[in-house]
Order: sequence, then C-alpha cells, then structure tokens
Amino acid sequence: MKALNAQQSRELEQRAQQQGCPLLQLMEQAGAAVARFFKKKYEMEQKRVVVLCGRGNNGGDGFVAARYLAENKARVVVLLVDGQPATENAAAMYRRLYEQPAVRVFSYSDDRELAFSLLETADFIIDAVYGIGFHGRVAAHMEPLFEQVSKAAAVVVAVDIPSGLLCDTGTMEGPCIRADYTVSFSTLKCAHILNPGKELCGEVSVAPIGISAALIDQQAAAVQVTEMADVVRAIKPREPESHKGSFGRLLCICGSTGMAGAAAMSISAALRCGVGLVDAALPRDIYPVVATQAQEAVYTLLDILPEGKYSVESRRSLEKSSSLCSAILLGCGLGVAPHTKALVEEVISGSRVPVILDADGINSILGHIDILKTTDVPLILTPHPGEMSRLMGKTVSEIQQNRVRYARQFAMDYAVTLVLKGAGTVIAAPDGSIWLNRTGNAGMAKGGSGDVLAGMLASFTAQGIPATAAAAVAVYLHGLAGDRCAAQLSQTAMLPTDLIAMLPKLFLEIGR
Ligand code: ADP
Ligand code: ADP
Ligand code: MG
Repeated sequence: MKALNAQQSRELEQRAQQQGCPLLQLMEQAGAAVARFFKKKYEMEQKRVVVLCGRGNNGGDGFVAARYLAENKARVVVLLVDGQPATENAAAMYRRLYEQPAVRVFSYSDDRELAFSLLETADFIIDAVYGIGFHGRVAAHMEPLFEQVSKAAAVVVAVDIPSGLLCDTGTMEGPCIRADYTVSFSTLKCAHILNPGKELCGEVSVAPIGISAALIDQQAAAVQVTEMADVVRAIKPREPESHKGSFGRLLCICGSTGMAGAAAMSISAALRCGVGLVDAALPRDIYPVVATQAQEAVYTLLDILPEGKYSVESRRSLEKSSSLCSAILLGCGLGVAPHTKALVEEVISGSRVPVILDADGINSILGHIDILKTTDVPLILTPHPGEMSRLMGKTVSEIQQNRVRYARQFAMDYAVTLVLKGAGTVIAAPDGSIWLNRTGNAGMAKGGSGDVLAGMLASFTAQGIPATAAAAVAVYLHGLAGDRCAAQLSQTAMLPTDLIAMLPKLFLEIGR
C-alpha cells in the first residue's frame, strides 16, 4: 500500500480533476466518507457532535460531514476556529450548510467560553482544522482550543490528518490534536505511519472518495507500507513436485559460548519460514545445546585454536558449506573475537550469494564499513537503533528523529538493503526506495526478538525472494506474530520463542 506526501496527494487530486472529477465533488465525497465512518460505528441520533473547521479545504470537508451527520439526526455544531472559509470550494460547502438548518454555526473568536463548553459536553469532536497542507506550527490563539480538545471526554476523529501534524514527516513543531480515529482519503499519508504522527492519528482508515484505483496506481509514492497482499505475492505456494533443493539452503554462521540461544532462535525461525535446509556453522562447545533445539538443521562444527584462529578443518568445512548455500546469515550471537571479525570480512567480500548481517556481524565491521563496497552480491543489514548509531557515528536520538533519512542515506551510500529496527521498522533499498512496517508491539522489546527476525529474513532470502521484498515480508510477519502473541499471552509475558511458535498459524492463514 502506498503512503503519499502532501505534494503527491495534491498531484493525485489534480489528476482526478483532469479526468473530470471536480474538487468540489471530491470534497463532497470526503465529507460523506467521514459521516459514513460514524454511521458504521455508532448510533448517531441525538449525539452531540462538534465539528472544528479551519479556513481551508480541510474545513470544507468538515462542513460536508456536518451536513450529513445532521441528516442522521445528530446534534451538530460547526465551530469556525480560524475565521470565514477562504477557499472557493470550502466557501461553497459553507453556503450549502444552510440546506441543513439543524446545524448550528459558531465562531471560536466570538465566544471562546461557549466554544470550550461545547467541547466539554460533546460526544464526538471532528478535527477539520488543518489537513495535509499544514506547515509550521498552529497560531498562539488556537493553542487553548487544542488544549480543550485534549481534555474533552469526546471521541476525536481527525479528517485526513490530525491538525498540527506535518504530513510528510509525521512530526510537529507545536501543539497537535490527538485523535482516536483518523479518516484518510484515497490513500495513506506518510504522517499516518511515521512516529510520532502514527500515535497521534489513532486508528487510521482509508476511505475511497471516487478517485479510481488505476489513478492511485499511477501516482508515485513517498513510501510503501507493507500489507498482507505483499506477503502473499512474495511467498509462492509450494509446487507439488518440489523437493528440498527447490527451497534453498541457508548457511547460518552464528552463536558463541554463552550465546547458544541466539543461534537456536535464528535457526528455528529460519526453519519455520520454509527454507529447504539450514546448515548451521557454530563452535563445537555450543553444538549439543543448539542441536537439541533445532533438530532439522545440519551442523558444521567449528574449532577455535588456542591462538585464536579457526582450525584448518573448520575453514575447509566452512568453504564447502559456503559453496553449497543460497544465502548466508552472519552474526546472531557470534561475538566479536578477532577470529570471528576476520571471518565476517572474508564472508562479505568473498560470498557469491546474498548475505544478511545482524548483530555482531554488524559490530564486526565497525571501523571498516567500506568492506560493504567490496562485493556485488545483495547485502542486507538489520541494525537496531543502537547498532545504527555506531554504524553512522550518530547518537541514538539523532537516528531516531530521522529514521527514514538515515536508513535511506546508508542504503544508498553502501548499496545495501538496510532494515532499521525498532517501533515502526524502516526498510531502505539501495535505490533509495522505502518500505515501512505497521505491525509489532513493545512486547517484542526483549533480547532474542532480533534473532528471530534475522532467521526469518534469511530464510526468505535463501528461497530466492529478492532482498527488499524478503525484508518487507519478514518484518511484517515478525510483527504480526508479535501482535498475535501479545493478544494471547500479553506483551509482558510473551517471549521471542513464542513468535516462532506463532508462525505456523500465520502461514496457515495465508494458505502457504
Ligand atoms: P545489544 O548488544 O544487546 O544489541 P547494544 O549495546 O548494541 O545492545 O544496543 C542497545 C542500545 O541500542 C539501547 O540501549 C538503545 O539505546 C538502542 N536501542 C536498541 N533498540 C532500540 C529500540 N527499539 N528503540 C530505541 N533504541 C534502541
Ligand atoms: P536482539 O538482538 O536482542 O534479538 P534486537 O534489538 O536486535 O534484539 O531486535 C529486536 C526486535 O524487536 C526488532 O525486530 C524490533 O523491531 C522489535 N521491537 C523491539 N521493540 C519494539 C517495539 N516497541 N515495537 C515494535 N517492535 C519492536
Ligand atoms: Mg539484535
């Protein structure tokens, strides 16, 4: 699914107009869609609705919604918060309000006390003050009004985006309405997906307003938002005639003394995502623990000599494994001893198959990140914000305030697929395109969740799904498994291993 920025949303409307769909008609549809949202969800008869209308087209949508809601016998008050409507279409819709004499109209500047008391007793508040065109911060005289909305007991529904929020970045420079629901038109907007905007939007629904799917398809998007349809498209049904060789072979170089769990979780997660075979290369001492957890894998045992090098036999086995596999996962619980660091570099520059670098795979290349430029095979890096901060030499908070920008910059500079994890995981492709994820929750903020993701992603990559699609699909399913676990087990008690146990149910649901 696409998420558009303000410029792209305007382009889409312009094209619709060129195809004979006047803006006034779109406004009528938008307002009707807001009223429909209420009708579907609530019994509106006699309910008190306050519609906050700005001077622009967002306010115009509000006038239309007011008219339709009054038709549904709600007690509707329109509050002009910023003076008289200032666009041609909003003014036209304002005049049409008189078709519904039941709608009362007040001006915030005429009587602030009245405005506040209306908000206090409202059942519903519709925020049609500012839409996607808003920039800067709300004027000082409006701040008490915004404050009053946040204190009100009413359900708050934002039209297109909550007022005060910047459409393109999901950030704000001043006060912002916090909505319980947001009704977006035609497509998602970036602010619905990017934090902190995502939180301020509440539950977002996308309402059609008569712009055709074909036209929406033609419109370039700022970002893609992964949805189930992308998963179903990427993961092909298993052919009846297929065999384990049809589903790739993943070499998982992982684990170290004290970190057997990371290895076991990444291997198990990979196995549960359909790869034909997992070959796990790990230190001999943790083999008994890991192998009892993941019986289906084959194991390549590594011996480390007292001088801190892999034995000759180990190196030979690793070379053989590398020559047979279709993808390599490098790093889960690997540690950063000199011998593993050297191995990571060799694998990156020598591999002929895609390499997924997680955790200590990433930590191993700090200080010589240019090693990423020594190969033409697809590379996928999965840093959390802490790892990303070290990769880019920025603080964690700098990274967190500009997640999309830094993810894109790194992906393009190093020609890799970059998965910047954490709430609202961002995936940046080498060409600079962005995928955003909406699944997942804070119950996943536990050691081991990342190992599960790495295993899933590596499994899809080994099966031949291209890097960016594999990342989008893995991140989406990983988060969805998290959301199901949270519903069944609680965010507090759910564990990363529960994510793995949830995967079969998800694949059953999508018929794979
Ligand atoms: P580990 O070796 O366990 O991955 P690190 O020291 O590499 O630990 O990184 C942990 C730090 O990374 C955290 O203290 C935090 O600053 C940052 N971090 C990791 N995950 C997130 C997240 N989801 N959101 C914000 N910050 C994060
Ligand atoms: P570890 O290395 O200990 O397994 P990571 O920090 O590498 O942990 O990975 C944590 C995983 O959990 C990531 O996929 C991250 O996106 C996810 N996660 C963590 N916190 C949240 C959150 N608050 N909301 C959604 N996902 C989260
Ligand atoms: Mg990790």
